[in-house]
Amino acid sequence: MRAVLSIGSNMDDRVELLRTVFDEFAGEIVAASPVYATPPWGVTDQDEFLNAVLIVDVEETPKELLRRGQKLEEAAERVRVRHWGPRTLDVDIVDIEGYTSDDPELIVPHPYAHERAFVLIPWLAADAGARLSGEGVAKRVAALDPQERADIRRLGMMEEL
Ligand code: ATP
Ligand code: CA
Ligand code: CA
Repeated sequence: MRAVLSIGSNMDDRVELLRTVFDEFAGEIVAASPVYATPPWGVTDQDEFLNAVLIVDVEETPKELLRRGQKLEEAAERVRVRHWGPRTLDVDIVDIEGYTSDDPELIVPHPYAHERAFVLIPWLAADAGARLSGEGVAKRVAALDPQERADIRRLGMMEEL
């Protein structure tokens, strides 16, 4: 099963926290985006995020993959204080090839992915042919507000950080 993961951190050692996800999926990563510095989305009075997208090929079911991401969040001692607030680590499933779900525990494709520059831009960098709900991600990126696009800053590949 091929899945697209969006990962983010805006607390503590952000690079090292993102690296825990790269390490967890090391043998299953098909493609990885660079790491980007991005402005907070939704709740804007918090620190800048680092974000990346990983495309993984895994053996488990969608729910098992979700659980694996949640375990990494727990290992990062994530505490949920405020909706869309600061977090050590967030692992979201953006999309799964050939699979959709409207179960609130796992909604696929992710309901906000199509409007988040911090998801779309890294995803396009990892996969130039990426498609979301039948539409090219490149087209969605092109349709983003130019300022929103400009605010997503490429830091470098994970191996370089
Ligand atoms: P957002 O989902 O808008 O990015 P968030 O990442 O801050 O917000 P969380 O608190 O991390 O939200 O997750 C809340 C719940 O969302 C989780 O308990 C999880 O079961 C559920 N969820 C639903 N769909 C997904 C998905 N595609 N990927 C990850 N979690 C999901
Ligand atoms: Ca999220
Ligand atoms: Ca999440």
